[in-house]
Amino acid sequence: MDSSGARVDTPVELRLREQVALRRAALSDRVCWAVAGAGVVWLGLYAVLTALAQDSPRLAWFQGNVLYPVPMLVAVVLSAMAARVSQGRGRAMWRLLFAVGVCSLAGDLIWTGYGLVTAGGPPTPSIADAAYLLANVLTVPAIVIGFGAAHVLRRARGLLDAALIAVGLGAVGWPLLIAPQLPDSFDLDAVVVVAYPLLDVMILATLAAVGFAGHRLVPYPVLLMAASYLVMAVTDCVFTYVAVVHTYTDGSWLNVPWQARRVLIVLAALVAVRHRSEARVARFDRDLAFPAVLVAVLSVAALVGAEQVRNGRVGGGTLGVAAFVCGGLLVRQLFTTRDRTRLAHELQVSLQEQERLAVTDSLTGLYNRRFFQEMLKLESERAVRADEPMALIVVDLDRFKQINDTHGHPTGDAVLVQVADRIRQAVRNSDIVARYGGEEFVCLLPGAGEEAAAEVAERVRWCVRRTPIQTGPGHEIAVTASLGFAVTTSVTTDGAGTDGIDVERLVAAADRALYEAKAGGRDRVVSADRPLATPIEEDIALPAGLLWLADQVDAEHGTGQHSAVARWCLAVGDRLGLDMATLRATAAAGRLHDIGKITVDEAVLRKPGQPDADEWAQLRCHPQEGARLVANLGEHGDLASLIAAHHERYDGTGYPQGLAGEQIPIGARIIAICDAWAAMRTDRPYARALTTAEARAQIELGRGGQFDPTVADAFLALLDEGVIDDMPPARAVPRDDARAR
Ligand code: GH3
Ligand code: MG
Ligand code: MG
Repeated sequence: MDSSGARVDTPVELRLREQVALRRAALSDRVCWAVAGAGVVWLGLYAVLTALAQDSPRLAWFQGNVLYPVPMLVAVVLSAMAARVSQGRGRAMWRLLFAVGVCSLAGDLIWTGYGLVTAGGPPTPSIADAAYLLANVLTVPAIVIGFGAAHVLRRARGLLDAALIAVGLGAVGWPLLIAPQLPDSFDLDAVVVVAYPLLDVMILATLAAVGFAGHRLVPYPVLLMAASYLVMAVTDCVFTYVAVVHTYTDGSWLNVPWQARRVLIVLAALVAVRHRSEARVARFDRDLAFPAVLVAVLSVAALVGAEQVRNGRVGGGTLGVAAFVCGGLLVRQLFTTRDRTRLAHELQVSLQEQERLAVTDSLTGLYNRRFFQEMLKLESERAVRADEPMALIVVDLDRFKQINDTHGHPTGDAVLVQVADRIRQAVRNSDIVARYGGEEFVCLLPGAGEEAAAEVAERVRWCVRRTPIQTGPGHEIAVTASLGFAVTTSVTTDGAGTDGIDVERLVAAADRALYEAKAGGRDRVVSADRPLATPIEEDIALPAGLLWLADQVDAEHGTGQHSAVARWCLAVGDRLGLDMATLRATAAAGRLHDIGKITVDEAVLRKPGQPDADEWAQLRCHPQEGARLVANLGEHGDLASLIAAHHERYDGTGYPQGLAGEQIPIGARIIAICDAWAAMRTDRPYARALTTAEARAQIELGRGGQFDPTVADAFLALLDEGVIDDMPPARAVPRDDARAR
């Protein structure tokens, strides 16, 4: 961010600046200026020779046939080079212009050839005219391709404009200026001669309508080309008039401006070879409707008027021209309307995108701080109106600086992105999550009171820490977060403000709670009101004596792994999407589930061989005895059903009740699999601990029989992800092989 407050350039502005610099470089290129100077000298010499040649046919021949093609030859070579160094559209354009040059050169050579073989020079029209006219025709697509970045509608409209202007001028010029000079019969020569200026006009109109009107920073080569065609159009008009009145002779002074135009083409190609440049499409083009419409309408009016006055009626040809012009204008209007509609749509889309970007954090895609502060105000007012509470949770990643320092900033960023996703998933749909600062996030919980906020905050903390974050193949980072939250009920102003909620106090209270969470050892949730909130994996708020007893039984007669079992139960339950209450109960029952063994004879528990029928009957009672022990624990009474069912099997062959499938509480199905894992991975008097692969195979074997297949799949997936951590060193345990019994 730019902290000085100075405005930062947009990418568009930066590119524009770069282009301006490129143009400046072209403008100060000494080689280009030197060639331009040489061009001027050439033209001066050419003019002098033209004057001298008026009295010397041999000099005139030399000048017209040897000197005349030289600039075009240079232009053709340079065009080929420009096509080589250009890319994309520029290359296609310069290839076409190369073809244009070759056609012109061919015209020159044909002209010279006629001069060599016939005494009177070429006929009119000749094949040379065909080559010259083809060159002009090819120039139009070159322009359209050169400005091809513009939308197709605009290019089509530009071509239409050019056609309207050319037809309009031609329609008026022919009957008013040319036809009166001609004999009555059809004259191909005259048509060819008129075609020159009309094509020039067409080229200029295309350049203006497609290029200049719709682009910014038109490159110098294009400007030079435009100047070249301007010179040519004026010269061709004069030539046409002179040719029609049959006074044109080879060696005419018209050759000087024609040479000038060729020198301009040489310069254009030279600049293109030496300087990269491309015109930028202007979002809002200058629509050259006025000249096109004016020329079209006036010419039709003049044509119709003149014919009416002269003949007393309007002929079919004139009506055809009028129909073309009217139809062209209608289509043009259609193009314009569609272009404007497209533009309006584009603008609307980009405006929406701008609005979205203005409220979004670019790294995580969450809302940004500014938007959050707005929402905080709005939601607090709404909470007051609706007389509802509202909660604010502040989340700060723990020791994030270390992650940056150890793994690098980009990895830190990747972690932030994934943490943001996890937070978004952990909160309710109605909650608003934003990135508040570097590695600090905030959640706004409309309508949430203390209990709901604690629940959401704990879920957020748990979602951040439950599995390490994958930052690349085989690369993962464990992340935890500390959270502080505050609820509006605790900071409601008592008459201090009219709005009822002081959002700044709310933020400060949540911040203080966060600070306490950090000071308390991190990876925890602290409420502004109630500075205790136990992490879910420690949240087995059972009487300490009971826990002690359960751990003793586990240490003596179990795997000694029931803390780990409780942890795995949490992970599996979370993977299965269980709610927090069920998660908590499952984890607690995972820790306590064997407490009923306290009622089984010590001798039975320690017996190394197979138990007899009586002993077996005793053992089978331990789930129900354990359930009885915890059944009266008030709010933890729900643990009883889980403990009672932890030896049930999915296929209904378990004990004590022989429940099957969904009849077994989900918590008990989870405990069964986690406990079996602990048993299999621990050394027992009659069997050594299985390896991870062997134990994994057993779980797969029991899928759908001993174990709920869905739970087994979740467990195996977590195992593969490394979430089911390896256990402390194995210890000999006498009995209770969950796999066997
Ligand atoms: P704790 O909060 O547990 O006290 O320790 P911490 O290391 O997280 O504390 P601190 O607030 O000092 O460090 C925050 C770090 O977050 C410092 C900074 O390098 C890093 N950080 C801030 N913004 C970004 C970001 O956009 N990307 C990355 N990769 N790191 C960031
Ligand atoms: Mg921080
Ligand atoms: Mg931090």
